[in-house]
Amino acid sequence: MYKKKYLFLKKLNFLLRITLLAALICLLAYLAIPGEIISAAKTRQYSSVICDNSGYPLRVVALEDGLLREYCDVKQISWQTTQILMTSEDKRFNRHIGVDLLAVGRAAKDYVKSKKIVSGASTITMQAARLLKPHDGGLGGKVGEAFLAMKLEMHLSKDEIFSIWLSNLPFGQNVEGFKSAASRYLQADISALTVEEAALLVIIPRSPSYYSPKNNPAILRQRALELLERSSLSFSPQRLDTAIAAARQGMDDYRRDFSAPHFCNFVEKNISPELKFSGAKIITSLDTQMQQTMQELISHKVQSSAAYRISNGAGLAVETTTGRIRAYVGSADFYSEDTSGQNDGVTAQRQPGSTLKPFLYELALEKGFTPSEVLPDIPMAFGTREVYTPMNFTNRFSGPVRLRVALASSLNVPAVYTLQRLGVANFADRLISLGFDSLVEQKDNLGVGLALGNAEVSLYELAQGYTAFVNDGSYAKLRFLEKIEYPESEIFSKKSKKLSGYVADLTTPKLVSAMEKPQAQLIRDILSDRVHRVQGFGYANIFSSSFDAIYKTGTSNQFNNIWAMGASPQLTAGIWMGNFSGDTVIGQPGSSIPSNILRNFLKKHIEDGQFFPDLEGFTLVKTCTLSGKPASPHCPHTYMEKFVPGNIPGECDFHTASGICLPVEYSDWIASNNLAYSSTSGELPTIVEPIPQAVYYYSTGLSSTMQAVPLKITAGLSTTYEIYLNGTLHTTATGSQRISLSLRPAEYTVQVKAGDYTQSVNFSVR
Ligand SMILES: [Zn+2]
Repeated sequence: MYKKKYLFLKKLNFLLRITLLAALICLLAYLAIPGEIISAAKTRQYSSVICDNSGYPLRVVALEDGLLREYCDVKQISWQTTQILMTSEDKRFNRHIGVDLLAVGRAAKDYVKSKKIVSGASTITMQAARLLKPHDGGLGGKVGEAFLAMKLEMHLSKDEIFSIWLSNLPFGQNVEGFKSAASRYLQADISALTVEEAALLVIIPRSPSYYSPKNNPAILRQRALELLERSSLSFSPQRLDTAIAAARQGMDDYRRDFSAPHFCNFVEKNISPELKFSGAKIITSLDTQMQQTMQELISHKVQSSAAYRISNGAGLAVETTTGRIRAYVGSADFYSEDTSGQNDGVTAQRQPGSTLKPFLYELALEKGFTPSEVLPDIPMAFGTREVYTPMNFTNRFSGPVRLRVALASSLNVPAVYTLQRLGVANFADRLISLGFDSLVEQKDNLGVGLALGNAEVSLYELAQGYTAFVNDGSYAKLRFLEKIEYPESEIFSKKSKKLSGYVADLTTPKLVSAMEKPQAQLIRDILSDRVHRVQGFGYANIFSSSFDAIYKTGTSNQFNNIWAMGASPQLTAGIWMGNFSGDTVIGQPGSSIPSNILRNFLKKHIEDGQFFPDLEGFTLVKTCTLSGKPASPHCPHTYMEKFVPGNIPGECDFHTASGICLPVEYSDWIASNNLAYSSTSGELPTIVEPIPQAVYYYSTGLSSTMQAVPLKITAGLSTTYEIYLNGTLHTTATGSQRISLSLRPAEYTVQVKAGDYTQSVNFSVR
């Protein structure tokens, strides 16, 4: 009997052992499989942080539900902070296997006594498990949590588990994690927290509304003090009070978007949700100094231009060869509701005015025009369905003008004439291939007005397109991403691997060939011509600049968009000004306001000695200023023009032995301008009347005011020159002139002078 019983017990013991062993094997097998909890740890969404090119944070990206949850690596916090956190939540964290058996024992005793869970016995690992895989409490949930905690301990390091816990603690106020909480409540960096601040923060997640620094500061203070006393660290109650006061203040003052807000919005719009919510440090190309310069220049200029009804401005600066965005200012004041400051003037589509003309003439050069091609600047009507009669900015016409002059002076009729010859669709296609995606949808509704910029494009597209004039016909696709960085942790290895191809694509510079090299170079040559720069930008500072650049301005039809574009070997930049309401800008300030910003910006940020390389491969030909063709012996004024080899026209046929003969289309213009002969000048002033050695007769019967010698001078539209009479300055004039000279009988010499150029005519009054 005894033996039997003994045998039975032995059997039972054996079965028990087997069962226990089997259970242990099952447990180990269960723990060995990573399962959902590990996958949850590795796919958990964290706010990525958008940074400038030096790694300085510009914005913490909010998750889809508006939550800010930054990943907080335990290595970022001080040992004192770690000690406070462990004292508060889990003293034996570094020694247990996810479950603290001592604490469980105590909790079990409490449970038996009171029939409910009194102390949590929750380790930091168990809390982390619950944050990753929430349950609704109860004993079952608690036990499951313990198993998941052991699983975490099996697959992740203590540091990783601590970091997960740290990064997911709920703080209310749309904030999770210690790092986001530190900046939200205390505007403090996680690495620089005092022990008092750490104690304050670790209390809040226990019940974010109850322990809110605003709702119950006294209770929060009490709990934090108790914790600090338990921690055996030295602390100061005064510093704790200061921290609580700061946290209360911080909750009121908090403003989320603080740096380069339009740029950060743009980045958010242009990266995948995976990257946005991956907890990455997104290092962009933005240069904070350039950004500040641009923002200050625009804000200041907008304030001082209110009288023109200019209420806003935008600016974009990019690295010319790589397309890296360096400065991105979407409006004068992001936070201004009156001026719709949140609208982004960089990507908004607006009429670009004359800023498209360089692309137009470049295409014309590719289609066989020469840089000295003579284009008509005379009243003309265009279009088939609708008659379109463009006017120039000055309401004057210059007659025959060379392409070089037409572009630099931004004349309208020659541009529309050129587009008519090229075909609107061809030009639209060219612009689209230059990255003007906005035009894809507008393409079917475009007319010859496109030459004057009556389609809608963005500053972004313009700046991108302008890089092509410096990059020999290839535009640099704009980009903003330099690299992304993840914390050194197993948790991020999967994400970083998954995103590596996507990121590589976003960080690769792309030069897109869209124009022919020689023709793009010729446009660059025309727009960087110093004489022509002066026309758009004035003499001041331009001649002393220590770098090369091309400039072009634009004003849209109703003067509600004014533009300035510039491109140098180092930077390409553009400025838009106007208002988002579409109000007409008054006072016609022209483009001098944005030009001024552009010039100041480039001067400040372009390094000395950035020059365009000398042009090679062109044929230099002595060319007639009037016909734009190789000069004949009859041509009075010549200059050296660059021709693409193989595309050099025949000799000048405007100047002949018997005089000047213009093509017939100019006859009305000649007549209406009352010119003495059938021509007009190109750029330099020419005395047309009196003719050399002319003799005028003074009548003594008439008063001197009733009779006069007519002085007729033709000159380029914007050519300024002096008129001398017998060596004395008579007047300074611009463009063609008809002047009456009241002269007494004598011998006279009339002279026109423009720089080094002089022309004299002798005549007499008898
Ligand atoms: Zn000639």
